[in-house]
Amino acid sequence: MLLLIPGPVTTHPDVRAALAQDLAPWDNDFRAVCARVLDKLLHIAGGSADEHAVLPLQGCGHFATEAAIRTFVRRDGRLLVPMTGSYARRMVRLAQEAGRAVVELPVPLNEKVDLQAVAAALAADPAITHLACVYSETSTGIVQDAMALGVVARQAGRRLLIDAVSAFGALPFDIAAMPELDAAVFTANKCLEGVPGISFAVAPAERLKAASGQAESWSLDLADIHQHALRQGRGSFRFTPPAQAIAALDVALDLYAKEGRAARLARYTANMGAFYDGVRAIGLVPYLPADVQGPIIVNVRAPTDPAWNLQAFVDALKRRSVLISNFFDTPEPSFRVGCIGQVTPHDMQRAVDAMVEALDEIGVRSRRAA
Ligand SMILES: *Cc1c(COP(=O)(O)O)cnc(C)c1O
Repeated sequence: MLLLIPGPVTTHPDVRAALAQDLAPWDNDFRAVCARVLDKLLHIAGGSADEHAVLPLQGCGHFATEAAIRTFVRRDGRLLVPMTGSYARRMVRLAQEAGRAVVELPVPLNEKVDLQAVAAALAADPAITHLACVYSETSTGIVQDAMALGVVARQAGRRLLIDAVSAFGALPFDIAAMPELDAAVFTANKCLEGVPGISFAVAPAERLKAASGQAESWSLDLADIHQHALRQGRGSFRFTPPAQAIAALDVALDLYAKEGRAARLARYTANMGAFYDGVRAIGLVPYLPADVQGPIIVNVRAPTDPAWNLQAFVDALKRRSVLISNFFDTPEPSFRVGCIGQVTPHDMQRAVDAMVEALDEIGVRSRRAA
């Protein structure tokens, strides 16, 4: 089965093989594996061991996003969130349910965030402590300029939180060049090509120290995770970690080092290009114009043909060994296809060919979108 969802992704056989073992998470040998994984991640993030820390957190990306918000935004703090799509909306909900105040900045879904509008919103409300943005908006496929947004936050004297879940490992990122950053969050199972179960935040050590005790949660307190690592040794966990997922990530990160970030991004970009051009060639309409289309995920507008039915389409594709998301996250009906994981432009073309057959099978005659 060709897994073309925007995470979890198609993994390398060696990554899957690492899952087939019993592990003792509290054992010193396994602690060394965890420490090694954190070292590799810190290296990818551009961090240095004396200034930055990678904090592992059991669970999926939303957990890490909530943890970053709780840890760094105090109860009396306030977040500015450019509303780039449904993952920005999720950030808002995570913040609000944690009792943190949010200011939403409207953004057209098919456009880059207007940096001047962000600067103006920060200037207009001195109570805003943090700018929080989604680097790669998986709901549409647009990639925002996280570095430029960071500069805007820096110039306004505010802190930055980045949801880098579908970006980290492929898109450029360098914590050493972002002194305004409080945290960027990511998971094992997207561009790092591991399996789900573990998420991470990378943050400055000084900020973690200063954030002690403000998370109003023990499980989701990144500062406490940091303190624990300082006390008990890096690679030790407070609570049971998904040991197999971490062992698999260790292997995935070796494969990552062999490929290199630039080559991985180039491969994803080629995947996206093959798929984007491929669906256009068969008369389907991508959600985003080419100039803002990111390399991670392509959303395609649903055909207006009355025979269109997303689940039927997904099922027909599955019969052809291609698996895509059976939900969409855009206001207009669409379907989403991931370009990440152990897949190639050849696989993406195969997916396009399967889509021609699947549309015929479910009776969609016109592929035009509204
Ligand atoms: C995948 C993703 C998340 C996290 O999703 P989980 O299901 O919680 O792992 C968050 N933000 C973005 C942009 C994502 O693509």
